[in-house]
Amino acid sequence: SISTIKDKVVVIMGASSGIGEATTRKLAEEGVKLVIAARRENRLKTLVESLPNAKILYAVADVTNKDEVQAVVNLAVEKYGRVDVLFNNAGVMPTAPLSEKRFDEWRQMLDINIMGVLNGIAAVLPIMKKQQSGQIVTTDSVAGHVVFQQGAVYCGTKFAVRAIMEGLRQEERENNIRSTLISPGTVDTELHTTIKDPENRERVENLQRTIGLQSSDVADAVAYAISTPETVAVSEIIIRPTKQV
Ligand code: NDP
Repeated sequence: SISTIKDKVVVIMGASSGIGEATTRKLAEEGVKLVIAARRENRLKTLVESLPNAKILYAVADVTNKDEVQAVVNLAVEKYGRVDVLFNNAGVMPTAPLSEKRFDEWRQMLDINIMGVLNGIAAVLPIMKKQQSGQIVTTDSVAGHVVFQQGAVYCGTKFAVRAIMEGLRQEERENNIRSTLISPGTVDTELHTTIKDPENRERVENLQRTIGLQSSDVADAVAYAISTPETVAVSEIIIRPTKQV
């Protein structure tokens, strides 16, 4: 069993910006073997090119497509022979009042934030069971604990992910598979760009820019969570900007 983070094989979904990009950089620095994925190929390519000494591959994948997610995981197995950690980090946050009836955005949040996580779990579970070892890390949120303004559906997806990850923990602990939630408060990322309403988007962007954590702060939490011995399961790390309500 591997107890140091160096040489671990880590797959990151949603690695093209923000928390996923910062985690890629942090883990690459630590000598982790990486396969990173997202939809924007140009961003993945630029990121990989900026890490010339890293053991890293990228693949284009949409987390709502289970075959594409499986292909990313399979690439890690083909290239490195195993998967130690899956980081389910992809997410969108098009917040709006329920009364606006934005069916497309509701569907998008359910598909990416919930089904995307389930597709990741489904892709790695058989492999990790065979290994009798593995860790699934998922980015949840403070929004998985409290419901904020215009966030009914987004927070709903993050509450759901917390339940799913706790169920995973209960079901797979005997197989030595660990379930970890990383739950940040506001982080200064591109997440606000998924909000359609200009006023709401600006409000969230302003909050991210003024008090938000840096993505690297969250990456440090991920690195810690995957650095513990196999007998130690970090179930959740909640990390807020000090000034956040
Ligand atoms: P970003 O918008 O910077 O990053 C989101 C990442 O998810 C991108 O890499 C994006 O890549 C990827 N992504 C989105 N949709 C898909 C998809 N369908 N398939 C594959 N990848 C996808 O924001 P953050 O870094 O902030 O977001 C990362 C996670 O952190 C999300 O789960 C978010 O909910 C969570 N979070 C963020 C907080 C914040 O304040 N920023 C607070 C708490 C939690 P691409 O578009 O290239 O596919």
